Amino acid sequence: MATRAQTERREQNNRYQLRNRYIFEGQFEMETALHIGGGTGIFSSSDSPVVLTPEQQPFIPGSSFKGALRSTVEKIVPSLPKELGFSSCALIELTDEQAGWVKPPKGEQPRWPGVCPTVWQSGLTMIKREYPDAAEKVTEEAMQSLCDTCLLFGSPFAAARLSINDLYLSDWNGVIERRDGVAIDRDSEKAKDRHKYDFEVVPASARFNLKIVLENATQRDLALLCVGLSEFVHGFGAIGGKRSRGLGMGKLTGIQVSALELIGEGITPEMRSQRLRDYLLAGPPAPEPAENFLREHIEHLFAEPGR
Ligand SMILES: [Zn+2]
Repeated sequence: MATRAQTERREQNNRYQLRNRYIFEGQFEMETALHIGGGTGIFSSSDSPVVLTPEQQPFIPGSSFKGALRSTVEKIVPSLPKELGFSSCALIELTDEQAGWVKPPKGEQPRWPGVCPTVWQSGLTMIKREYPDAAEKVTEEAMQSLCDTCLLFGSPFAAARLSINDLYLSDWNGVIERRDGVAIDRDSEKAKDRHKYDFEVVPASARFNLKIVLENATQRDLALLCVGLSEFVHGFGAIGGKRSRGLGMGKLTGIQVSALELIGEGITPEMRSQRLRDYLLAGPPAPEPAENFLREHIEHLFAEPGR
């Protein structure tokens, strides 16, 4: 019997066809100061400046936000109801033993052990090298084993379904603060002599504009994204460096969503062409507050199986 997970995965057969597009917009408001290192630049005398646009304004690279959202989702996935079959590899590389690799008896073909290939890339390379005849079949099995977070956020084996624009400040008072740090010797836990350094931060209350585009999403993708966004709405989003000092905590506010759905239950071919036509002519519909959208998709996760 196909599980709900397998059925929903199969929705994704033709990845070149636009099936749906969801645009989420909101503001990410810093509740504590933010440090996203920009490497030592020529324009700053700080040991650890913040990342700046060419116009010298701090920003949050979309990739940093995506990484933060991904770890937020990865933290929740293991606690979701088991029967939904959600999995997340958490990007932690496995040994052959951890991957459950069993060498096949002589003359037999290997089988992919079912782990997400993102965290056992060495295994895939090894199998392809040692069993060239089985390479195609095993690669196919490996791709079927991609975990839910890799499918949503991307992996070397699968393009991300979600993309996040760089986040620019919505209003900016032009202040970058400088703080002092002291390097601590990990062995003695004492401050190292002459190891004082400074780093820059964007002060708390800075607000950044967020835009996320999710394309060809399954119900599972939507649910996971809503889980991550909900954590951010409730102030558990954390981004950037020096988080152990309490930096980088923020809150997602004013979140809105606009949806284009071209394929799905109850959508006839006539409705599809009408929707697509309107979309191409007039652009995305006006975004609506996303609270209900988030609630519905999260509730769906905890609904009785088979409902
Ligand atoms: Zn994975």
